[in-house]
Parts: sequence; structure tokens; C-alpha cells
Amino acid sequence: MSRRIVWVTGGSRGIGLEIVRAFAQLGDKVWFNDLREDQVRETEAALVAEGFAVAGRACSVTDFAGLERLVEEIVTQDGRLDVLVNNAGITRDGLMMRMTEEQWSLVIHTNLTGCFNTIRHAIKPMMKQRGGRIVNIASVVGVMGNAGQANYSAAKAGVIGLTKTMARELASRGVLVNAVAPGYIETEMTAQLTEAARGELTRQIPLGRTGQAADVAEVVKFLAGPAAGYITGQVLQVDGGMHM
Ligand code: NDP
Repeated sequence: MSRRIVWVTGGSRGIGLEIVRAFAQLGDKVWFNDLREDQVRETEAALVAEGFAVAGRACSVTDFAGLERLVEEIVTQDGRLDVLVNNAGITRDGLMMRMTEEQWSLVIHTNLTGCFNTIRHAIKPMMKQRGGRIVNIASVVGVMGNAGQANYSAAKAGVIGLTKTMARELASRGVLVNAVAPGYIETEMTAQLTEAARGELTRQIPLGRTGQAADVAEVVKFLAGPAAGYITGQVLQVDGGMHM
């Protein structure tokens, strides 16, 4: 497989960092963006020191114009864009009775509109080169719902709808679009949960254990790779059987 040009959002820690690492280990050039400049520099420096071809940029997925400039930079430097992984995401949990408009808007804007923003720019080079892969990180709660996560589950369900529509719109151009819906994965995002909530969640997982970021990264790699050339518009659940 020749060296691909990959872009991962929210790539400086958690699942995103594991995805960056997974592609970089295959010899791909990996661009990533994230919110905080210091975090981006630190991650980039650590990966470059390991010998990987990575480039990090501080840019929010809510910054439509900034993302356009980033895609221009990628195409100017590397000539193409083969893979986009929409990973950046946040939570602002609360029961509906107490959820503020700000909590609602921030999560929808980051987790759903953020995917619109990146896809809107990334498909220009992909359509031109008549090929590409887009993998959106949704969530099992976008499929099954979750009390206390109205904003997050609505955004992730939106990501699934966006994935299917993009798969239909872009198929004739050779751009394949799929989603991965992780269950309970050990990252800083889930580290916020109480012991009781953790125990309760783990009891719902038939495999009897939580997932690791690498479990998600492996599936993203598969969906972006040659073995998944006849798969588009699908949602692959990586959740230990939590939802079936
Ligand atoms: P983390 O919170 O550990 O990491 C998220 C990363 O995204 C951070 O680097 C964060 O930056 C970055 N980010 C946040 N907002 C923006 C933004 N506006 N623009 C660019 N980058 C941003 O989360 P996870 O690794 O756990 O989650 C990754 C994805 O997987 C998310 O989409 C999440 O919804 C999804 N997911 C996770 C599950 C889990 O159990 N962990 C389960 C199901 C889905 P910063 O460091 O500045 O906060």
C-alpha cells in the first residue's frame, strides 16, 4: 500500500492519538488538528521523535475558515488527501430538565457541525482525485440513546445520518464514508465517570470489559484500508456487544 495522506481531528490525545499512531505506523503521513497549541506541539514533537511523519495544527473543528486553510495547506504540501477521520468530540452531560442552551449548542456545534465543517472542505481534493475515505467517530449512544446525554446522543445520531448521506452523495466519486460507534472506551473522557457508573456500564457489556483506544483505531484503519473497498454508509459498533 502506498503512503497515504491522512487527516485526524482531535488527534493529540485519547482515541484520536491512537488513530494518528496507527496510520503513522503504517508509514502514512498524518496531519492532525486539535484545540490547544501546547498540546498539539507536545504530541507532534513526541511522534516525530519516534520517527513518524506527522504534522499537528491548532485549529478547532468549529472554525470553518481555519479548516479550509488547513486543507489548502495539506494539499499544497502533500498534493492530495486520502483519508479524513472525524474524531474530535466533547461531552457536556446533564438531564434535560437541567441542560442549558449553552451545553446543548456547544456539543451539537463541536460533535456534529464539526463533521460538516471538515467534510465540506476535505471532499474537494477527494472528489478531484476520484477517491478517498471518510471515517466518522459516532457513538453507541447515537444508536441507543442515554439518559443525561440528550445533546451528545443527538449529535452522534446526526453524525450517523450525515455518514449515510455522504456515502450516497460521494459513492460515484469513489469516496467511501463510514462511521465507527464505540461503546465504553478508557480515555480521559470516560475517566470523569464515577466508580458506580463505571461498574454499571461494564455490567452492560457482554465481553465483560471496557474497550481501549487501540480497539477503535484498528477498526478505523480497516475502514480506511484496501480490505474495506466494498463498504460504505455503514456504522461499525466497537462496543464489546453492548448494543446489538
Ligand atoms: P478525549 O476527550 O480523550 O479526546 C478528545 C480530543 O478532541 C481532545 O484532544 C480534545 O482536545 C479534542 N477536541 C475537543 N474539542 C475540539 C475541537 N473543537 N476541535 C478540535 N479538537 C477538539 O475523547 P475520546 O478520545 O474519548 O473520544 C474521541 C471520540 O470518540 C469523540 O468523538 C467521542 O465522542 C468518541 N467516543 C468516545 C467514547 C469513549 O468511551 N471514550 C465512546 C464513544 C464515542 P482537548 O485536549 O483540548 O480537550
